[in-house]
Amino acid sequence: MQNAFQLSFVVPLYNEAQNMPELKTRMQSLLASLPMPAELVLVDDGSTDQTPQLMSNWALEDARIQAVFLSRNHGHQLAITAGLKMANGKFAVMILDGDLQDAPELIHAFVQKMQEGYEVVYGIRTNRKEPWYKRLAYYSFYRIMQQFGNIQLPPDSGDFALLSRKVVDYLNLLPEQNRYLRGMRAWIGFKQIGIPYERNERFAGSSKYTFKRLLDLAYSGLFNFSTFPIKFITRLGIASILVSLFYLVYVLIEKFVYGNVPTGFTALLMAIILFSGVQLISLGIIGEYVLRIHQQSQGRPLFIIDKVIKDQSLINGQELLP
Ligand code: UDP
Ligand code: MG
Repeated sequence: MQNAFQLSFVVPLYNEAQNMPELKTRMQSLLASLPMPAELVLVDDGSTDQTPQLMSNWALEDARIQAVFLSRNHGHQLAITAGLKMANGKFAVMILDGDLQDAPELIHAFVQKMQEGYEVVYGIRTNRKEPWYKRLAYYSFYRIMQQFGNIQLPPDSGDFALLSRKVVDYLNLLPEQNRYLRGMRAWIGFKQIGIPYERNERFAGSSKYTFKRLLDLAYSGLFNFSTFPIKFITRLGIASILVSLFYLVYVLIEKFVYGNVPTGFTALLMAIILFSGVQLISLGIIGEYVLRIHQQSQGRPLFIIDKVIKDQSLINGQELLP
């Protein structure tokens, strides 16, 4: 039995058939060059192209490949979560994108750091080869998190990381539905270190993250790891009360000292519209937290596994149920 794997690579795949041949070539030579036995856990996140077929073929011909098929598209973070649950590596687990934006060959440098005593080694993107608006969005988001987050989220780090077995075990314990893995990783603690690297462009195909999904991810980061938004509402409320009090004093002075009866229907209307907006936004912010409570209280499993090919044989997902 191949249960002596020291290292696991977890790769989520969503319609990455175009990248599979290159991934296969690169990973095969990498697996051969490693000083310790390593497995590759490919997670199919409900792909509709040839990805599942290519994964099956590969896993059936090579016992180091574990192919995990989710029941539908669950999203990047949950696909990684599934991979982390299925990974056997006793020493560490490397998380990697299937589009080869993060060079798998960096594993050597990552492992070296881990051998120096770090429990988490993550990549820091030095130059993003991405459109300027995406870079700006990322830049602002990480700076906001640094300012207002409850965790030390390293700027420009992604999910690309090597996690020790200990950290993976703790990550697997965290039950949160709305997963923001890089935040959870930072939350766990222990000795962590970043390694700067150049993020390549996608080998083939286009990004599977829609704008909405990126926004959802940013929301998870902000609302799961910061209490700032909810505290901000209170501060906003206090500020508006103060403004209105000052205005009241001004109006009273105008009336009784100078005898001016203030007019200002437009000002009134503007104030009402402004504060309706403020109230709706505040409700929305509270709503984000309520939504998270709601999802958590539903207590659904994080993902559903359809089937797994492991040790070159097929396992039905149901057999893996606890
Ligand atoms: N991915 C996934 N499920 C999704 C979206 C993406 O498993 O719903 C995978 C995708 O195949 C890739 C990785 O997650 O291997 C990163 O996705 P992508 O390259 O689209 O993100 P980007 O690099 O543009 O942020
Ligand atoms: Mg990518």
